[in-house]
Amino acid sequence: MSRNFDVLIVGASVAGASLALRLAKRGVKTAVVDKSSFPRRKACGEGLSDVAMEKLSELDLGEKLSACDHTPFYGYCAWLGNFSVDLASNTSRKGSPDKKPPKGVGIQRYVLDELLVRELSEQSSVETFFGQKIAAVKKDGGEYVVEVSDGALRARHLVLADGANSLLASRLEIPRKAGNSPSWGISWIFEGEFTQPAEQVSVFVKKGYEIYCTPVGNNRVNVCILARKHLISELSRPENALPEIIQAFEKIGFAGAPIGKPEHIGPIASTRRPIVHDGILLAGDACESLDPISGMGMTHALLTSELVANALVAILCDQKQPHVVFRELIKRRESTVRPYRGFARLTGMLLRGTRNHGRLLALLARTPFPSKVRDVLCPELLGTQMPSSASAVLLALAGFDFLYLKGF
Ligand SMILES: Cc1cc2nc3c(=O)[nH]c(=O)nc-3n(C[C@H](O)[C@H](O)[C@H](O)COP(=O)(O)OP(=O)(O)OC[C@H]3O[C@@H](n4cnc5c(N)ncnc54)[C@H](O)[C@@H]3O)c2cc1C
Repeated sequence: MSRNFDVLIVGASVAGASLALRLAKRGVKTAVVDKSSFPRRKACGEGLSDVAMEKLSELDLGEKLSACDHTPFYGYCAWLGNFSVDLASNTSRKGSPDKKPPKGVGIQRYVLDELLVRELSEQSSVETFFGQKIAAVKKDGGEYVVEVSDGALRARHLVLADGANSLLASRLEIPRKAGNSPSWGISWIFEGEFTQPAEQVSVFVKKGYEIYCTPVGNNRVNVCILARKHLISELSRPENALPEIIQAFEKIGFAGAPIGKPEHIGPIASTRRPIVHDGILLAGDACESLDPISGMGMTHALLTSELVANALVAILCDQKQPHVVFRELIKRRESTVRPYRGFARLTGMLLRGTRNHGRLLALLARTPFPSKVRDVLCPELLGTQMPSSASAVLLALAGFDFLYLKGF
């Protein structure tokens, strides 16, 4: 016998779980299916932005998040060889944060995703199906029938929040546009001691790869390596990766050893799909995955899940016409995501750059410009129109492309 729901979400990570929590606030009967069981580790840089924190607070998770092991960060530091620049920093000088709020927190995905799914289990209108593979998805009389190991689940609406390499989106023939130079990633937790205050996310930009170090708790650092295909198998070997990581640790003032094995992920390309296709909705990375160099993937997941939740509530609770709601959703997706897409593109260009870009970066870092650009994405501005500052216009321009006009 099949069980009936208003909404079925595939994926219980940041996008899927936050979407289900928003729907639960309006009592929408929701099923959440994930092939993984929680808690689980996930390859990620584990830097959660201030905007993302604001979104989690709206889900009443602010205090619970603060109670988890985490580290606030006040800016970003880019290393190009032995030369470093502070970018978008709320730290007046190393070791003495001024009164400005942090730019985000470092928190392990093991902890964050577990917090989200624990919250889900407390919602009476949400049922979870974890550790279950999806055997088939069919449409039957205007409803979706999803076969999982536990049986068949029926729902009026289907949302894919199953990540950038969404298998279901491919199976359901949802069009996709992917960037043409994918990377592969490894992420690893190290435990040890800080010899100086951990206040920044540090990015070590090398030829063909990057090493990201994010403090994620009292005595832990997440090390994430993002590399081109020809380098990743080399960098996956501890004997090759560890000397590089130890060098990076010397720069950030940390000494430690890895806990467990690294998590692998890839291929990672900036992928983009429509937010709604033939009535199926997409949220988070399944809809669009931003270049990890932006550190904005989880923020994007939380923002798009909010847009999708609002659309579903308008249809299911406020009896609005789906075609009208979906048209509005496509527009809102574009105006919300464009600055983030622009930020990701500009950050990638600036940090990976070309010959001599280090000098340009150093010059830029001495101006308020990087902070101004990053501040456009800040919580105070969320929900308002894009301000008409030069940096906002720049992000909007950098994030624009013609796919939007095709309904992506
Ligand atoms: C190397 C790297 C570093 C990053 N660093 C950062 C960072 O520092 N800060 C930041 O904000 N973002 C970062 N990101 C991006 C961030 O990890 C993602 O944007 C974010 O996890 C997207 O969340 P999501 O819920 O959309 O998808 P995911 O987190 O990918 O979750 C998808 C979920 O769907 C489930 N699933 C998949 N297929 C199926 C299926 N067929 N059936 C059932 N369940 C399924 C999976 O088990 C998973 O739980 C990074 C990404 C990478 C690759």
